[in-house]
Amino acid sequence: MSNKVHLGHTARKRFGQNFLTDEGVISSIVGAISPDNDHVMVEIGPGLGALTEPVADIIDNLTVVELDRDLVERLKAHPILKDKLTIHQGDALQFDFTQLAQDGKKMKVFGNLPYNISTPLMFHLFEFAEQIETMHFMLQKEVVLRLSASPGCKAYGRLTVMAQYYCQVVPVLEVPPGCFTPPPKVDSAVVRLLPYEQKPWPCKDVTVMRHLCTTAFNMRRKTLRNNLKGMLDDDDFAALGIDSTLRPEQISVEQYVAMANLFIDKST
Ligand code: SAM
Repeated sequence: MSNKVHLGHTARKRFGQNFLTDEGVISSIVGAISPDNDHVMVEIGPGLGALTEPVADIIDNLTVVELDRDLVERLKAHPILKDKLTIHQGDALQFDFTQLAQDGKKMKVFGNLPYNISTPLMFHLFEFAEQIETMHFMLQKEVVLRLSASPGCKAYGRLTVMAQYYCQVVPVLEVPPGCFTPPPKVDSAVVRLLPYEQKPWPCKDVTVMRHLCTTAFNMRRKTLRNNLKGMLDDDDFAALGIDSTLRPEQISVEQYVAMANLFIDKST
């Protein structure tokens, strides 16, 4: 049988379907998620239920968002899961997670994510950070390195700055391709994202912060001064005590917030 067929389902590449099959890894991830009934538990991309089943075993209700209609039909017919799941068929990138937070309960969101949409999905989820207690995701290892990078590293970029603006980022576990069916072409890793209750460096307008980061990292080899021309001038950098001849990856999250706040003050 082809290694693309798992439990009678042919994995669809366009949906990023690499099903987790390693029991040890599955149980480590469930332990990290720490499922409970005090939070709204939400899984993105339950697939054939590798994480869904052990998590649903522990709690009363699990909400899932799955794009593949065939997999949704399988979940609806699942003898044990069908009574515990609230199933949303659709694209997690378009999903309004606000509707899930109920009775003042925050969400715990998890998933072995489709790698082809993981970066936009991270940005989408950051918008709901205030209603989320924890996130645990299986991602391409390279994306976990970007999320957790420090200033000065090659992996440090726009995703790093925005992730660390919203969350504490903790790499949890590295996972080799052989733990999936079919095996992905890249190494994977699990990351824990803990949204801050009180952000260490609050920004007055996060839309401006996102725009400033995108602009700053537009050309990584150029200096901050060059990339941010038109937004901040030499006097602004001097007022902030930031060396404008540095490259964008040498600037801390705190400094990005300070630059965004100064730009907001100047524009209002
Ligand atoms: N959780 C399962 C596991 O670990 O074996 C499946 C993981 S597989 C890497 C990714 C899952 O996300 C698939 O079930 C896929 O159909 C689903 N998916 C892909 N794109 C999606 C999207 N935009 N929104 C929601 N689910 C999506």
